[in-house]
Amino acid sequence: MCGTVGHPLHSTEKGSIPVHCPFCRHCDTKVSDSRAAEDGSAIRRRRLCPMCERKFTTIEQIILTVVKRSGVVEAFSRDKVMRGVSKACKGRPVTQAQLAALAQRVEESLRASGQAEIPSEKIGVAILGPLEELDSVAYLRFASVYKNYESVDDFQREIDALRLSATVKQPRPEGADAFDRITAQEPLLS
Ligand SMILES: [Zn+2]
Repeated sequence: MCGTVGHPLHSTEKGSIPVHCPFCRHCDTKVSDSRAAEDGSAIRRRRLCPMCERKFTTIEQIILTVVKRSGVVEAFSRDKVMRGVSKACKGRPVTQAQLAALAQRVEESLRASGQAEIPSEKIGVAILGPLEELDSVAYLRFASVYKNYESVDDFQREIDALRLSATVKQPRPEGADAFDRITAQEPLLS
């Protein structure tokens, strides 16, 4: 019987949501097989309708959500990342394809963090790394807004860090975290 029609999509059985049979509309189909699809961000389920005994497949996409400072929750959007970053890339030799690749990297790193709900600040952090590799001017623009630079000194510090990552130097400046990171990536230069 379809007595639960109309109630919200609460999970009834383990990891499974009631799905209507696409053939006979029976509302209580059984999952016969579940497996991760694509990069693990989706689950493909083979389902069987006990009424008409036909089989069909569903894909459940794991939605990344973003929690804004205001507390508002919304779905993660690669387009939004691209729009934000493209403002910083204005006039720079950065292509749409590069922006799309950057947004994909950002999404992958957020998914890899294992959190389903990401505070919006973390998206900025996830953008900084790939953007620094892509274009240093765009990076500075983005970082100046994101990190809320208040003085020329803030820019200077960031530029110094960028120079350090561009040219690898031998003696270590005191307390340069960025420098530690770079030397760790360059084992040949010890
Ligand atoms: Zn059916």
